[in-house]
Amino acid sequence: MFNRSRRTLAYWFALSMGSILILFAGVSYYRDVQSQLKAFDQVLSQKSKVMATSVQYRLYGGRWWLDLTEVPLLGNNALPLDSELVYARWYTAEGYLVRFAGTPPSQVLTTAPGFQTIQRDRQQALLTPDKWLRQVTLPVFQNEILVGYLQVATPLTTLRTTLAERRLFFALGVPITLGLIGLTGWFLGGIALQPIRGAYDQLQRFTADASHELRAPVAAILSNAQVGLIAPLNDGTQQRQRLENIVTLTKSMGTLLSNLLFLARHEGILTAEVLTKVDLVQLLPPLIEDYTAQAVAQNLQFRSSLPKYPVNLQADPELLQQAIKNLLSNAFKYTPPGGTVHLRLLTQAHRILLQVEDTGMGIPSSDLPHIFERFYRVDTTRSRQTGGFGLGLSIVQQIVQAHQGQVTVTSQVGQGSVFQIELPLK
Ligand code: ADP
Repeated sequence: MFNRSRRTLAYWFALSMGSILILFAGVSYYRDVQSQLKAFDQVLSQKSKVMATSVQYRLYGGRWWLDLTEVPLLGNNALPLDSELVYARWYTAEGYLVRFAGTPPSQVLTTAPGFQTIQRDRQQALLTPDKWLRQVTLPVFQNEILVGYLQVATPLTTLRTTLAERRLFFALGVPITLGLIGLTGWFLGGIALQPIRGAYDQLQRFTADASHELRAPVAAILSNAQVGLIAPLNDGTQQRQRLENIVTLTKSMGTLLSNLLFLARHEGILTAEVLTKVDLVQLLPPLIEDYTAQAVAQNLQFRSSLPKYPVNLQADPELLQQAIKNLLSNAFKYTPPGGTVHLRLLTQAHRILLQVEDTGMGIPSSDLPHIFERFYRVDTTRSRQTGGFGLGLSIVQQIVQAHQGQVTVTSQVGQGSVFQIELPLK
């Protein structure tokens, strides 16, 4: 599934970037052709103008005569202006051919003044290096009177060579760049999908773990009910025992389901609207009271140290209470009778520290990096005895992270553990 999405991402990335690239290459090639042609035309125009200035219009024997003898190429003794010119022609103002040099033209001027690109036929092209010519037809004026038209042409060889090089560059460059874009898309797709893949794997694991946890009590409930149905009706105490089992199992399933719901509902950082100003020194006493009573019942010593001044922060008070309750419940669960549990609230420069310390069984160092993972239990037998599913600490972590804090632990087997919640002081 991820490979397909990655391929799709790479494909669309290459397609969109490729289209932009091709468009860009096309426009830049077009602009290149235009500017090169303009420069080429300027040179051709200059050459034709130089020729035009050599045209003499003389008064001879009472009549105006046109003298082309001084005109390069067309003139009698004149040296060629430039060997690059393929032909030069002179037409009268009425458009009739007077003189030409180079390729024989038609007798009448057929083209309008200005620049034209001409493709010559094969026979003509044999005489010149290129069959593509650029031709200019220039109207020539003397004393503001049109005296004729000068037509010259030059091969487009240099221009066409430059453009061919440019085309070769694009023809090789565009596919190579497209390939690189495709690879980049594939690489970026991988990076983009990495967090999604992580979340997906986590969800898969979570669903598998949750179903696994639910299967065992469901099977136990079913077997208790089936045995109850088969057993004789007068089997009073046994029947009651089975019903009690079903109630216990259902309660534990209820706890698991509410924990799962809690985790699902409180994902992500809390928004500013749900946060209120909370004074921890006011929030903790009711909790301390509950656990003091529980400590007596469990034969534990429970102590608490709170500062004398208010400790304010922006928080969701119910969630914060839930996190502290989870830590205290664990401390009470995993500390044998006669032990001590200590709840401390401290403030430092920019942070609030909430510590739950116990003198319980502790956690092996190999388990410490995992205990905040969902469904992780240090020792399934010790958790089963206390009815834990391995979700309590991940709920604590989720709540603390939602408040932009962090939860850490230090522990030694047989000596006890210290869980610390660190929250920003606001
Ligand atoms: P559970 O609901 O099973 O207690 P938690 O997520 O609260 O799950 O805790 C994960 C594991 O960490 C537990 O299985 C337990 O073995 C261990 N643990 C948590 N708190 C303590 C503690 N205060 N002392 C010793 N072990 C603890």
